[in-house]
Amino acid sequence: MATEPLRFLITAGPTREPIDPIRYLSNRSSGKMAYAIAEAALAAKHEVMIVSGPVSLPAPEGARVSKVVTSDQMYEAVHEQLPRCDVLVMCAAVADYKPVKASPFKIKKGAAALILELVPTRDILASLADKERKYLVIGFAAETNELEENATKKLREKNCDMIVANDVSRNDRGMESDENEVIIFFRNGQSTKIPRTSKKNIARELVKIISTHAKNV
Ligand code: C5P
Repeated sequence: MATEPLRFLITAGPTREPIDPIRYLSNRSSGKMAYAIAEAALAAKHEVMIVSGPVSLPAPEGARVSKVVTSDQMYEAVHEQLPRCDVLVMCAAVADYKPVKASPFKIKKGAAALILELVPTRDILASLADKERKYLVIGFAAETNELEENATKKLREKNCDMIVANDVSRNDRGMESDENEVIIFFRNGQSTKIPRTSKKNIARELVKIISTHAKNV
Protein backbone atom coordinates (compact mmCIF):
# COMPACT_ATOMS: atom_id res chain seq x y z
CA MET A 1 0.00 0.00 0.00
CA ALA A 2 1.48 3.38 -1.02
CA THR A 3 1.55 6.03 1.69
CA GLU A 4 1.81 9.81 1.27
CA PRO A 5 5.40 11.05 1.47
CA LEU A 6 6.05 12.82 4.77
CA ARG A 7 8.72 15.38 5.59
CA PHE A 8 10.82 13.96 8.44
CA LEU A 9 12.97 16.23 10.60
CA ILE A 10 15.33 13.99 12.59
CA THR A 11 17.83 15.13 15.20
CA ALA A 12 20.87 12.93 15.66
CA GLY A 13 23.92 12.31 17.81
CA PRO A 14 25.21 14.10 20.88
CA THR A 15 25.81 17.80 21.38
CA ARG A 16 29.07 19.29 22.64
CA GLU A 17 29.02 22.01 25.24
CA PRO A 18 32.31 23.95 25.26
CA ILE A 19 34.31 24.32 28.47
CA ASP A 20 37.18 26.15 26.77
CA PRO A 21 38.51 26.25 23.16
CA ILE A 22 39.63 22.60 23.26
CA ARG A 23 37.41 20.89 25.85
CA TYR A 24 33.74 20.11 25.98
CA LEU A 25 31.01 18.15 27.80
CA SER A 26 29.27 15.51 25.72
CA ASN A 27 27.84 11.97 25.86
CA ARG A 28 28.19 8.55 24.20
CA SER A 29 25.49 8.95 21.55
CA SER A 30 26.72 7.61 18.18
CA GLY A 31 23.86 8.82 15.99
CA LYS A 32 23.31 5.24 14.71
CA MET A 33 19.63 5.08 15.70
CA ALA A 34 18.81 8.46 14.14
CA TYR A 35 20.70 7.74 10.91
CA ALA A 36 18.96 4.34 10.67
CA ILE A 37 15.58 6.08 11.02
CA ALA A 38 16.63 8.51 8.28
CA GLU A 39 17.55 5.61 5.99
CA ALA A 40 14.31 3.76 6.73
CA ALA A 41 12.27 6.92 6.05
CA LEU A 42 14.10 7.48 2.76
CA ALA A 43 13.58 3.84 1.78
CA ALA A 44 9.84 4.38 2.38
CA LYS A 45 10.02 7.38 -0.01
CA HIS A 46 9.72 10.07 2.63
CA GLU A 47 11.76 13.32 2.63
CA VAL A 48 14.44 13.60 5.29
CA MET A 49 16.24 16.51 6.93
CA ILE A 50 18.76 15.56 9.65
CA VAL A 51 19.97 18.07 12.23
CA SER A 52 23.08 16.29 13.36
CA GLY A 53 25.46 16.75 16.23
CA PRO A 54 29.05 15.51 15.75
CA VAL A 55 28.98 11.86 14.61
CA SER A 56 31.29 9.77 12.44
CA LEU A 57 28.59 8.46 10.12
CA PRO A 58 28.18 9.26 6.42
CA ALA A 59 25.04 11.19 5.49
CA PRO A 60 22.39 8.81 4.10
CA GLU A 61 22.02 9.29 0.36
CA GLY A 62 19.10 11.57 -0.38
CA ALA A 63 18.96 13.20 3.07
CA ARG A 64 19.68 16.86 3.69
CA VAL A 65 21.95 17.37 6.69
CA SER A 66 22.40 20.45 8.86
CA LYS A 67 25.49 20.00 11.04
CA VAL A 68 25.48 21.52 14.50
CA VAL A 69 27.73 21.23 17.53
CA THR A 70 26.09 22.75 20.62
CA SER A 71 22.59 22.36 22.09
CA ASP A 72 21.93 26.03 21.31
CA GLN A 73 22.79 25.46 17.65
CA MET A 74 20.53 22.38 17.59
CA TYR A 75 17.70 24.39 19.17
CA GLU A 76 18.00 27.12 16.50
CA ALA A 77 18.31 24.64 13.61
CA VAL A 78 15.25 22.64 14.72
CA HIS A 79 13.12 25.76 15.11
CA GLU A 80 14.25 26.98 11.68
CA GLN A 81 13.29 23.69 10.01
CA LEU A 82 10.03 23.01 11.90
CA PRO A 83 7.70 24.93 9.57
CA ARG A 84 8.74 22.53 6.80
CA CYS A 85 8.18 19.21 8.59
CA ASP A 86 5.34 16.75 9.15
CA VAL A 87 7.20 14.61 11.68
CA LEU A 88 9.82 15.66 14.23
CA VAL A 89 11.92 12.77 15.54
CA MET A 90 13.98 14.07 18.48
CA CYS A 91 16.47 11.22 18.57
CA ALA A 92 19.47 13.38 19.55
CA ALA A 93 20.99 13.00 22.99
CA VAL A 94 20.98 16.73 23.65
CA ALA A 95 23.15 17.69 26.63
CA ASP A 96 21.04 18.52 29.66
CA TYR A 97 23.64 20.88 31.15
CA LYS A 98 26.30 23.19 29.78
CA PRO A 99 29.06 25.27 31.41
CA VAL A 100 27.63 28.62 32.46
CA LYS A 101 30.35 30.28 30.38
CA ALA A 102 33.01 28.80 28.11
CA SER A 103 36.48 30.12 28.93
CA PRO A 104 37.95 31.98 25.92
CA PHE A 105 41.38 30.54 26.87
CA LYS A 106 42.58 27.02 27.59
CA ILE A 107 42.07 26.45 31.32
CA LYS A 108 45.42 25.85 32.98
CA LYS A 109 46.04 22.80 35.10
CA GLY A 110 46.61 23.46 38.81
CA ALA A 111 46.80 21.64 42.13
CA ALA A 112 43.45 22.92 43.36
CA ALA A 113 40.12 21.31 42.53
CA LEU A 114 38.40 22.88 39.57
CA ILE A 115 34.69 23.51 39.89
CA LEU A 116 32.68 23.83 36.71
CA GLU A 117 29.39 25.66 37.10
CA LEU A 118 26.72 24.13 34.88
CA VAL A 119 23.34 25.49 33.83
CA PRO A 120 20.49 23.58 32.16
CA THR A 121 20.43 23.77 28.37
CA ARG A 122 17.27 24.88 26.59
CA ASP A 123 14.97 21.88 26.15
CA ILE A 124 14.00 21.70 22.48
CA LEU A 125 11.06 19.34 22.93
CA ALA A 126 9.69 21.22 25.92
CA SER A 127 9.86 24.47 23.92
CA LEU A 128 7.27 23.00 21.52
CA ALA A 129 4.91 21.74 24.21
CA ASP A 130 2.51 24.71 24.27
CA LYS A 131 2.56 25.33 20.56
CA GLU A 132 -0.36 24.68 18.26
CA ARG A 133 1.24 22.27 15.84
CA LYS A 134 0.58 20.39 12.66
CA TYR A 135 3.44 17.94 12.98
CA LEU A 136 3.85 14.73 14.90
CA VAL A 137 6.41 14.80 17.75
CA ILE A 138 8.40 11.73 18.70
CA GLY A 139 10.69 11.98 21.71
CA PHE A 140 13.32 9.51 22.87
CA ALA A 141 14.06 8.52 26.44
CA ALA A 142 17.31 6.82 27.35
CA GLU A 143 16.87 5.45 30.85
CA THR A 144 18.97 3.46 33.29
CA ASN A 145 16.10 2.75 35.72
CA GLU A 146 12.31 2.88 36.01
CA LEU A 147 12.00 2.97 32.24
CA GLU A 148 8.22 3.11 31.95
CA GLU A 149 7.68 5.62 34.73
CA ASN A 150 10.40 7.99 33.49
CA ALA A 151 9.45 7.68 29.83
CA THR A 152 5.74 8.31 30.35
CA LYS A 153 6.56 11.29 32.58
CA LYS A 154 8.62 12.77 29.70
CA LEU A 155 5.83 11.99 27.23
CA ARG A 156 3.43 14.08 29.34
CA GLU A 157 5.78 16.87 30.36
CA LYS A 158 7.24 17.37 26.89
CA ASN A 159 3.84 16.87 25.25
CA CYS A 160 5.06 14.25 22.76
CA ASP A 161 2.75 12.18 20.58
CA MET A 162 4.94 9.18 21.31
CA ILE A 163 8.13 8.46 23.16
CA VAL A 164 10.62 5.75 22.26
CA ALA A 165 12.21 4.45 25.44
CA ASN A 166 15.32 2.33 25.76
CA ASP A 167 17.34 0.94 28.61
CA VAL A 168 20.88 2.30 28.33
CA SER A 169 22.20 0.50 31.41
CA ARG A 170 23.24 -2.48 29.24
CA ASN A 171 26.19 -2.60 26.83
CA ASP A 172 24.64 -5.00 24.30
CA ARG A 173 21.97 -2.53 23.18
CA GLY A 174 21.28 1.17 23.06
CA MET A 175 24.04 3.74 23.01
CA GLU A 176 26.92 3.02 20.56
CA SER A 177 25.61 -0.51 19.88
CA ASP A 178 24.24 -1.68 16.50
CA GLU A 179 21.29 -3.23 18.32
CA ASN A 180 18.51 -1.88 20.42
CA GLU A 181 15.29 -2.85 22.15
CA VAL A 182 12.63 -0.22 22.63
CA ILE A 183 9.18 0.34 24.04
CA ILE A 184 7.07 2.98 22.36
CA PHE A 185 4.61 4.75 24.63
CA PHE A 186 1.66 6.58 23.10
CA ARG A 187 -0.43 9.46 24.45
CA ASN A 188 -3.48 7.24 24.93
CA GLY A 189 -1.63 5.03 27.41
CA GLN A 190 -0.92 2.22 24.96
CA SER A 191 2.57 0.88 24.37
CA THR A 192 4.35 -1.39 21.88
CA LYS A 193 7.59 -3.24 22.50
CA ILE A 194 10.09 -3.90 19.70
CA PRO A 195 12.25 -6.71 21.10
CA ARG A 196 16.02 -6.71 20.71
CA THR A 197 17.05 -6.46 17.06
CA SER A 198 19.26 -4.34 14.79
CA LYS A 199 18.77 -0.58 14.84
CA LYS A 200 17.92 -0.87 11.13
CA ASN A 201 14.96 -3.18 11.92
CA ILE A 202 13.82 -0.95 14.76
CA ALA A 203 14.02 2.05 12.45
CA ARG A 204 11.87 0.32 9.82
CA GLU A 205 9.21 -0.54 12.41
CA LEU A 206 9.28 2.98 13.83
CA VAL A 207 8.84 4.56 10.42
CA LYS A 208 5.82 2.32 9.79
CA ILE A 209 4.26 3.27 13.15
CA ILE A 210 5.02 6.96 12.60
CA SER A 211 3.50 6.92 9.10
CA THR A 212 0.28 5.43 10.46
CA HIS A 213 0.03 8.03 13.21
CA ALA A 214 0.99 11.00 11.01
CA LYS A 215 -2.23 10.55 9.03
CA ASN A 216 -4.21 11.39 12.17
CA VAL A 217 -2.44 14.67 13.01
O1 C5P B 1 14.94 14.74 29.52
P1 C5P B 1 15.68 13.90 28.54
O2 C5P B 1 16.97 14.53 28.09
O3 C5P B 1 15.89 12.47 28.94
O4 C5P B 1 14.66 13.83 27.32
C1 C5P B 1 14.91 13.12 26.20
C2 C5P B 1 14.19 13.72 25.02
O5 C5P B 1 14.19 15.15 25.08
C3 C5P B 1 14.89 13.36 23.73
O6 C5P B 1 13.91 13.23 22.71
C4 C5P B 1 15.80 14.56 23.50
O7 C5P B 1 16.14 14.71 22.13
C5 C5P B 1 14.94 15.70 24.02
N1 C5P B 1 15.72 16.83 24.58
C6 C5P B 1 15.54 18.09 24.00
N2 C5P B 1 16.27 19.16 24.49
C7 C5P B 1 17.11 19.00 25.54
C8 C5P B 1 17.27 17.73 26.14
C9 C5P B 1 16.55 16.66 25.62
O8 C5P B 1 14.76 18.24 23.06
N3 C5P B 1 17.80 20.05 25.98
